[in-house]
Amino acid sequence: MNDLEKTESGIQSSNDDLSKVADGVFHTKIVFVNSYFVDTPENAPGSFVLIDTGMPYSAARIKYAVENRYGAGAKPTAIVLTHGHFDHAGSALALAEEWQVPVYAHRLEMPYLTGKSDYPPQDPTVGGAIAQMSRLFPHGGYDLKTHIYALPENGEIAEMRGWQILHTPGHTAGHISLWRERDRTLLAGDALTTMNLDSWTSQITEKKEFCGPPKPFTTDWQAAHRSVEQLAELEPRVVAAGHGQPIDDADTAEQLKELARHFDAPRKGRYLLSPAIADESGVVSVPPPATDNVKIAAAGIAAGVLVTVLTRRIRNKGEK
Ligand SMILES: [Zn+2]
Ligand SMILES: [Zn+2]
Repeated sequence: MNDLEKTESGIQSSNDDLSKVADGVFHTKIVFVNSYFVDTPENAPGSFVLIDTGMPYSAARIKYAVENRYGAGAKPTAIVLTHGHFDHAGSALALAEEWQVPVYAHRLEMPYLTGKSDYPPQDPTVGGAIAQMSRLFPHGGYDLKTHIYALPENGEIAEMRGWQILHTPGHTAGHISLWRERDRTLLAGDALTTMNLDSWTSQITEKKEFCGPPKPFTTDWQAAHRSVEQLAELEPRVVAAGHGQPIDDADTAEQLKELARHFDAPRKGRYLLSPAIADESGVVSVPPPATDNVKIAAAGIAAGVLVTVLTRRIRNKGEK
């Protein structure tokens, strides 16, 4: 059963309406990650591009949202991936095969989208809600086969005139953000978030606030900080990210500058002092794992239970 059939038969949700982010820019949230639809009427009437494809098995939901807005049989002219993590590229292959459209990503992201490399392992020791959940998430790469293309170095693609593609590394080596100068709209991917993924409460309330990139999957913190500084210098009017609701307050630019000044890096973690090193072939080296107190605690509890059971057994045998 393919991705589309699997979802169509099961998890169809009523939350497939697209909400407006800016002129001709819409988003839909599937589970906990956003995909964006960017109208490109200057290309051809009714044309649009899809930014990010959600987790695996999201293809039917995205297709449903597309047909709801653009009509039966509608498809984008291209898919652009901000990066290749499972929650952004998880349905890229299913949708590219369904629509037969090109998928673009930064050249440094290609190893993870052509089956050549897995991402560096996530770091659950940074602490917080998403860090604990990340223990269950995959960090493998995908193979998008003939559908994947490296973005041109000039940061522009014919399918998205008026948009500039910015290399914003740190969360991943080839992470990109998208910027439309005309109305100062920024699609930031996971270069930052517009909610606090570390807070269990915010997982439910989705309170809007600028935070750094999702911590357990960010493998170069210095680069991630520089990318947020670069984005803050743009002084955007509206910022929409992979996680959280768009922020379009009167002081959006100032809020983002505040994040750049007081960057939200973790206090501990595997990648804090030394980043994962990656090149065009994929991951070259990673720092050793940090001490994982949760794992140690779990191992301690397991050992305690085992000792108690064995002691009881020995005692019971002695009493017989
Ligand atoms: Zn990510
Ligand atoms: Zn993400």
